[in-house]
Amino acid sequence: MIHFVGAGPGAPDLITLRGAKLLGEAGMIIYAGSLVNPELLKLAPSGCEIYNSASMTLDEVIEKLKSAHDRGMDAVRLHTGDPSIYGAIREQMDRLKELGIPYDVTPGVSSFCAAAAAAGAEYTLPSVSQTVIITRMEGRTPVPPREKLSSLASHQASMALFLSSGLMESTCAALLEGGYPPDTPAAVVYKASWPEQKVLRGTIATIAAQAEAENIHNTALILIGRFLGNDYELSKLYDASFSHGFRAASK
Ligand code: SAH
Repeated sequence: MIHFVGAGPGAPDLITLRGAKLLGEAGMIIYAGSLVNPELLKLAPSGCEIYNSASMTLDEVIEKLKSAHDRGMDAVRLHTGDPSIYGAIREQMDRLKELGIPYDVTPGVSSFCAAAAAAGAEYTLPSVSQTVIITRMEGRTPVPPREKLSSLASHQASMALFLSSGLMESTCAALLEGGYPPDTPAAVVYKASWPEQKVLRGTIATIAAQAEAENIHNTALILIGRFLGNDYELSKLYDASFSHGFRAASK
C-alpha cells in the first residue's frame, strides 16, 4: 500500500498521529526534501529505504513506489503541509491507479493554517471576510486567465498567496490593480512553525520592501486582507442573544 502523507508545515510535532504511525511502519519513504523537515525521518524504522524527491522526476518516483509495492512493502510519500495544496499528488495517484497499486491519503496541516497561527489571525472575521482565497502569483507555472490575481483581488476577501514571495513587487501591483486599497493589511510569514519563523506585518504598499529588507524570497506565504486589522464584529456563534442548535439565547 502507498500512503500519501501530509507532513505539516515544518515543526515535526505538527504531523498527524496517523501520519507519524505510517512513517513508523514504512518500508520506504519518499519525502519532498525542499520543504519537509528531515527531523520527521527519525520516525522511520531501521532499514527503511529513504529517498528525497527533490532531485527525482515523476517517473522515478513512481518507479520507486512500484518497487516497494512489488516487494510487498508499505511506502510513504511524504509531502509538505497538506498534499492537496500545490502537492502534485493527483498525477501520482493517477499513475498508481493505472498500475493497479492501492493508495490512500492522510491529510496534513497546511502552511496557510500555520501562518495564521503564527500571525495570531483568523481568516474569516464577521463583517470583514467570510471567504479565503488560496492562490499564487503566476510564475513559470501558468495560472488560468480567469483566475488572474487582479480579478481575484476585486473581492477584497482574505487571501493566502503560496509560491509568490519571490515575486513580491508584481504580486502587490496586481493586488492593487485589482482593487485592494494600498493600506490593506498584509503580512509575510516565513517558515511558519520552524525555529527560524518570521512574521512581517505591513500593508500592500509596504510589504514588498519589508520582505526584501529581510531577504525573504521563498518558503513564505503572503497574507492579505482586513482580517489582519483590528476592526470586526463579534461572532453570532458565541453571541448571548443568538440561538442555535446547541444553545438557546440567554439575553
Ligand atoms: N502543500 C503545501 C504547499 C506546497 S507549495 C502546504 O499545504 O502548505 C510550497 C509553498 O508553500 C512555498 O512556496 C510557500 O509559499 C508555502 N509554504 C510551505 N511551507 C511553509 C511554511 N512553513 N511557512 C510559510 N510558507 C510555507
